[in-house]
Amino acid sequence: MPKDFLQPMTCFYWATQGRCTKTADECFYAHWDTGVIASAPVSMARDGQSVTVAGRHADAQIADFIARENSLKTRELALNSRQVLLNQHDAALNARCANMKTAMQEVYDTIETFDNESAEALRALHRRKKQIEDFNVATATEGKPSEYGAMLLFAVNGSIGAVTKMAQRVDEVGNYMKEHIGINAVHEASVAAFVQANNHV
Ligand SMILES: [Zn+2]
Repeated sequence: MPKDFLQPMTCFYWATQGRCTKTADECFYAHWDTGVIASAPVSMARDGQSVTVAGRHADAQIADFIARENSLKTRELALNSRQVLLNQHDAALNARCANMKTAMQEVYDTIETFDNESAEALRALHRRKKQIEDFNVATATEGKPSEYGAMLLFAVNGSIGAVTKMAQRVDEVGNYMKEHIGINAVHEASVAAFVQANNHV
């Protein structure tokens, strides 16, 4: 009601004629001085009778109020649908990240397996190297140095170098994943085993 507006409106009759056919309770307009007087009521014919519709000021205020209400509702709807889209986007992103992390973990597990296997291979190669060196020392002592012994030692050293290089590269990948992708299951034990096998002479 116009008397309840944020800027209440005073009854046209009460203000201009000092009286109103309605009581202060019944009248839509204020029967006190609000500083704003409603305009003369607009009348329109309905069923052969003159019916009071509303003051022009009230019309304008109501129209303005409805317009603001509608614009707020429209903005709220737009915000809600944007929030729904954002939530969907978040969910899709989280799912993709989870898949990625699983895939990365699998790669990382493979690297660890390779670390362990290459450490085992290095230990075996170092055992062979020791045998060949002992063989070479023995044949040299006997005055019959073996050219096969020298070739075998060259081959074993080459194998050790190749496996070491491969293991180092794979280790670099593993460390990169640990540092930049947050895969943090580096087993210090497997790294230690690799280092130990490589230094074992
Ligand atoms: Zn009145």
